[in-house]
Amino acid sequence: MRQRTTVTGLGERFQLLNEIIADVVKRHRRDAHNVKLLAVSKRRTSAEIRQCALLGQVAFGENYLQEALPKINDCQDLRLEWHFIGRIQRNKTTDVAKNFDWVHTVDRISVAKRLNDQRPEELAPLEVCVQVNLDGALNKAGVPPGQLTQLLAEVSGLKRLRLRGLMTMPEPSEGVELQRLPFQQLATLLAAAAVDYPAMDVLSMGMSGDMDAAVAEGSTLLRIGTALFGPRP
Ligand SMILES: *Cc1c(COP(=O)(O)O)cnc(C)c1O
Repeated sequence: MRQRTTVTGLGERFQLLNEIIADVVKRHRRDAHNVKLLAVSKRRTSAEIRQCALLGQVAFGENYLQEALPKINDCQDLRLEWHFIGRIQRNKTTDVAKNFDWVHTVDRISVAKRLNDQRPEELAPLEVCVQVNLDGALNKAGVPPGQLTQLLAEVSGLKRLRLRGLMTMPEPSEGVELQRLPFQQLATLLAAAAVDYPAMDVLSMGMSGDMDAAVAEGSTLLRIGTALFGPRP
């Protein structure tokens, strides 16, 4: 009985979330094809991921490598698209390069080089977004905007990586107007970068609490956990 309730709940939330996104997209006059959902499945089980996949979701995001690897293995038959969205430890790049399709959190050249060297020959190049730190907070992941141009130049030369866009995760703030500010900054940075790198067309920004602001500013990839799976255990 309990299992059944959980399953029904996910189906309903998945449908509701897609309706909410469709509504936000329409309200901000965006093209629905350009706003995709990345289901953030950290702290969620393989069974929940499988259920979500059966509802039609293909792209899943994970933060913690140790947690993600068994789930990726469990779900191999589903041919899902796996996005690494957590902080990358320099000594853990091999498993990221081998098991993921996307990495959103490239923020230094040493890590980019390792991912490039370790990406297996038989796989397509790894799709990467560079993470930008717009808060200027210490101890926070992401390259400062002032160093972005240099990092993009270096990453773009790595043949086993495909530079696709920018990602940011701002400090939480209240109200759509405030939430829009960092997203607007990231959109401006992407527009500038796309002049030199036309393949960069991804803005990975917006989570459960700020998706409206993110879509308003041009997000193409919403990273949503709680609004889909419920509060994390
Ligand atoms: C957890 C996480 C999310 C999803 O957050 P929710 O508020 O649950 O939607 C998105 N992006 C990153 C990088 C995360 O760590």
